[in-house]
Amino acid sequence: MSAKILLVEDEPGIQELVKFNLQAAGHTVLTAMNAEQGLAMIRDALPDLILLDWMLPGMSGIELAKKIRADHRTAATPIIMLTARGEEQDRIAGLDTGADDYMTKPFSPKEMVARIRAVLRRRAPQMTEDIVEINGLKLDPISHRVSGNDKALDLGPTEFRLLHFLMTHQERVYTRSQLLDQVWGDHVFVEERTVDVHIRRLRLALEPSTHDWMIQTVRGAGYRFSPNH
Ligand code: CA
Repeated sequence: MSAKILLVEDEPGIQELVKFNLQAAGHTVLTAMNAEQGLAMIRDALPDLILLDWMLPGMSGIELAKKIRADHRTAATPIIMLTARGEEQDRIAGLDTGADDYMTKPFSPKEMVARIRAVLRRRAPQMTEDIVEINGLKLDPISHRVSGNDKALDLGPTEFRLLHFLMTHQERVYTRSQLLDQVWGDHVFVEERTVDVHIRRLRLALEPSTHDWMIQTVRGAGYRFSPNH
């Protein structure tokens, strides 16, 4: 599993340690020294997960977590809070802000990597390598193969990622902007009609096994994946 992780942490030593270990585990790491810088980076490109220090100069980690949760665009982005304090009260407050997990410093790098994997598995299933199968449509992230009723289907890399995201988030409508964030990782520099182009290609690729109807257009809203008509 390789995720784009944003680390918001003001202590250079911990920043280095976390970055080193996450990169060794195959992740891409972006770092911010404070909440304001972190917000600016999130505005540019949505990370797959945010590691957020509790005590930051200026805006605190908790305030930042609340902002992230309150914004429609980032509401579903997984957050793991980091803190030096281990008080039960703080833990509850941390989870109250909408954090998915909570780690007390000092933590072992091995534990951190395992916790990140667990949170991503729960919150961002398109990041995992589990095979997804819905109504005879099967996607294997490891071999990068898609089949419909056991017939091999030919998908380009973007259509593959798009289908993986949609299949792991079925019955939910996504706007073009949300799909750009989730699948392209960029909603600022890519045009929204790019999404339409790849949706069209994806439907074409699914036509041979007649699974194309599961990619549904929701008028005035965006797109939805559904095994129901
Ligand atoms: Ca700190």
